[in-house]
Amino acid sequence: MADLKMIIDGKEVEASSRQRTEVISPATEKVVGSVPRGTAEDVDRAVKAARRAFRKWSRLTPGERSVLLGKLADRLEKDVQRLAEMETSQTGKPLKLSLNSDLPFANDNIRFMAAQARILEGTAAGEYSPGYTSIMRREPVGVVGSIAPWNYPYLMAAWKIGPALGAGNTVVLKPASNTPLTAIEIARAALEAGIPEGVLNVVTGPGPEVGGALCRHEDVNMISLTGDTATGKKIMEQSASTVKRLHLELGGKAPFIVFEDANLDAAVQGAVVAGYVNTGQDCTAATRIYVQKPKYTDFVKDFVAAVKMIRVGDPLKPSTDIGPLISKDQRERVAGFVERARKAGIEVAAGGKALDGPGFFYQPTVLAKAKHEDEVIQREIFGPVVVVMPFDTEEEIIRKANGVEYGLASSLWTKDVTRALRLSRDLEFGEIWINDHLPLASEMPHGGVKRSGFGSDLSRYSFEEYTTIKHVMADLSGEARKGWHFTVYGDPA
Ligand code: NAD
Repeated sequence: MADLKMIIDGKEVEASSRQRTEVISPATEKVVGSVPRGTAEDVDRAVKAARRAFRKWSRLTPGERSVLLGKLADRLEKDVQRLAEMETSQTGKPLKLSLNSDLPFANDNIRFMAAQARILEGTAAGEYSPGYTSIMRREPVGVVGSIAPWNYPYLMAAWKIGPALGAGNTVVLKPASNTPLTAIEIARAALEAGIPEGVLNVVTGPGPEVGGALCRHEDVNMISLTGDTATGKKIMEQSASTVKRLHLELGGKAPFIVFEDANLDAAVQGAVVAGYVNTGQDCTAATRIYVQKPKYTDFVKDFVAAVKMIRVGDPLKPSTDIGPLISKDQRERVAGFVERARKAGIEVAAGGKALDGPGFFYQPTVLAKAKHEDEVIQREIFGPVVVVMPFDTEEEIIRKANGVEYGLASSLWTKDVTRALRLSRDLEFGEIWINDHLPLASEMPHGGVKRSGFGSDLSRYSFEEYTTIKHVMADLSGEARKGWHFTVYGDPA
């Protein structure tokens, strides 16, 4: 049982409400831990601590911050088994995913940001205007409010903490209400690694109350959210009066496009993995599979057969492929999409039912023959539900792939290099895979366009978002009256 406290100013503290919230395993429906139910007052305490810590932290050299982030990664790596089990207990995701993918990748992301801290780039200092030396300073933004989702709690916390701290900001992190445990553990590890008190604070509690207080706080300079597009819109509204910098990583509805010349076995394998990863609760999941007509029937036959082999069950069993959905509500939401699809005459080619409890399990589901306007094509379901559709031409598929409000990730499957490059230009997504779907790299950006938000995670592009640039311009002449002053006052010399 993990009964944890919030981390504010380097101390483990209860909430001002004195209330606690239980954390439930979605696989067993049993209580696996509890955390304080934080309030706006706790946010204020944490922001004040972060502000106090900011001056000293931001004035460490990049090298000093880099060493401390590296030590954090070391500690997290040493504890990976326990933390992976904790991640699985609160999310229900298979331990093989937590232990071999989410956590090692997150730790590598922190290591990358530790290195990135030391290689800030920008325009060289010099005389760009005659008689003046210009210097560009890259500085931290200040106190960052980070708001994380429940689908990858540890990974998303790492994506937010690494670049923010590396760049010299201090952070108040709000994990998702139902998955707060591992974020607190990361903050505890940060203290053990020697990251000073107040640099990384964690306040747990409900989104609108705790997250809302962060957005509205006068002394928070930036909000970084990963979450639903609807939440992104709320964050923009809540942050408007204090004109905060925003970093929004929002929803997705990724197309997975299979041309007739593609390696069909690879595409089927890729579709199963990318469609059902993390029980489909993944912003980049392959939710819309389009197959060129000559191969459509073969693809659907093989795909449905493969989907029926997915092993759903106890996340701790090494043989389990996918676990439950995160909550009862989420399962009802997913079931609602499938029921409405069934009623609308969309074919349910596999699955389509909740599984008996305990646990919020749902069968891996394949839908077919939906229309482009249908909600299962247009809206994010965020569950183990994939829609398969045929297409004819390249022009048609570009139109359909782009014809949703999201623009996060997409993939195309073909052996034709020129076509792959043409589509890489024409598809409106922040990420395009060719003959695969899902892999990411610490060094490369991940982020969306359109209503998938703006800003990047991972890479130096993420790091730069947690910095501001400042132009310092110094006169070299020492003269009272500069050559250009006559344009405002008096006559030319
Ligand atoms: P969510 O939007 O419900 O919650 C995200 C966070 O926002 C939580 O911590 C929540 O408590 C908080 N929140 C909710 N209301 C708030 C408010 N009014 N003010 C401030 N904070 C508030 O998202 P979720 O259900 O936890 O996660 C799933 C969503 O995240 C999906 O839409 C998915 O596509 C998206 N996601 C995107 C990426 C990406 O990289 N673009 C990655 C992972 C998940």
